[in-house]
Amino acid sequence: MAADLEYYRRTAITRLSMRSDDDRRLLLDTIEEWRDGCNLASDLAWNQCHSKSVIEDIARDKIQNQTGLGSQHAILACHEVSRAIKSGIECRQKGKKTSQPQFTAQSITYDRRTLTVFPEKETVSLTTLGDHSRVHADLVLPDDESGYQYTYLNNDVWEHTESTLHYRDGSFYLHLGYRKPKPKQTDESTTENGTVLGVDLGVNQIAVTSTARFFSAGELNHTRREFEKTRSGLQQTGTQSAHRTIEQMSGREDKYVKHVLHSVANGIVEEALQHECDGIVFEDLTGIRDRLRDTVWHSVWAFRTLMQYVEYKAEAEGVFVDTVDPKNTSKRCADCGCVHDNNRDQDVFNCVQCGNRNHADYNAAKNIAELYLLRGHQLPSGRSVSQYALKSGLMTPS
Ligand SMILES: [Zn+2]
Repeated sequence: MAADLEYYRRTAITRLSMRSDDDRRLLLDTIEEWRDGCNLASDLAWNQCHSKSVIEDIARDKIQNQTGLGSQHAILACHEVSRAIKSGIECRQKGKKTSQPQFTAQSITYDRRTLTVFPEKETVSLTTLGDHSRVHADLVLPDDESGYQYTYLNNDVWEHTESTLHYRDGSFYLHLGYRKPKPKQTDESTTENGTVLGVDLGVNQIAVTSTARFFSAGELNHTRREFEKTRSGLQQTGTQSAHRTIEQMSGREDKYVKHVLHSVANGIVEEALQHECDGIVFEDLTGIRDRLRDTVWHSVWAFRTLMQYVEYKAEAEGVFVDTVDPKNTSKRCADCGCVHDNNRDQDVFNCVQCGNRNHADYNAAKNIAELYLLRGHQLPSGRSVSQYALKSGLMTPS
């Protein structure tokens, strides 16, 4: 028998806008029945079996008779319970305590039979109770056409697969699952190559990617200067209440900076996903510290925090994060490799050897990716990283 196809898997998260209170009620009822169905199957199967088909045999009819779920959701509930019991068994094999799976979350699983996506209308239809009741809802997508969700919605290469609907803080969120087959590895010589995204961090541009996405620090720098002005005014006042205000302000400033860093981190991870990168590469912090010795707002703290955010978000998407020794990334031409002091003038990179002219931080981002590749890193899967994502297509260093 042929081996199962392996897939790349991605999730596109969007909020749903419901069209009526009845629809909202119906979906909430469906979630409740789903939990009952899962708990019922869990009661029947726990300590008996964990295979999908056996659980279907013993629990499927009962779920259909005792809950309001339709036939397909009864099957999906059996599969959900099978997964939960299997992971319980794995935990037990590792010596951890496990107990019977209980289903309490405000969420429900959908598949292609129970959820239809209409990308061009940006709507979905979801099965609710029984086999014939459906509600239609609108996807609340970013106005900006570059929202990463569009990559999967409007793309035939990505196939819509199992999804989950979550109810949280009064809203429904759809985690749309997408997959596409990994290319088959036919023989040793054609093993697939890994791709990385290079990211340069800096003061005027918080981050620039090797795909030429720029995250400007303009507004951040401006806001921090405003905070600084107010603070020094208050310090001159010197009263106790001025002191209290300064403390409150620094809390607000911290919160603001973290908010900006979160959104930059999201953008970097989106960029990596859009270009199907296996990893994201930064220069290491010692390099940043040396290079940015005299800068105003920046602190190594901000860059470290940004890298942590990226790492955390990337990990959830199966993308690794690594760093590279940044030696010469700002003076080296990413096109011809020439390293020269005169190659860079402020934001402009202009190679004295080959004439390559580009934004200096973009050139640096490409260098970071390229230096990482040239040092022959291996992916966790054993494949080697051999290309990096560029603005127009992939670049393989010679
Ligand atoms: Zn050059």
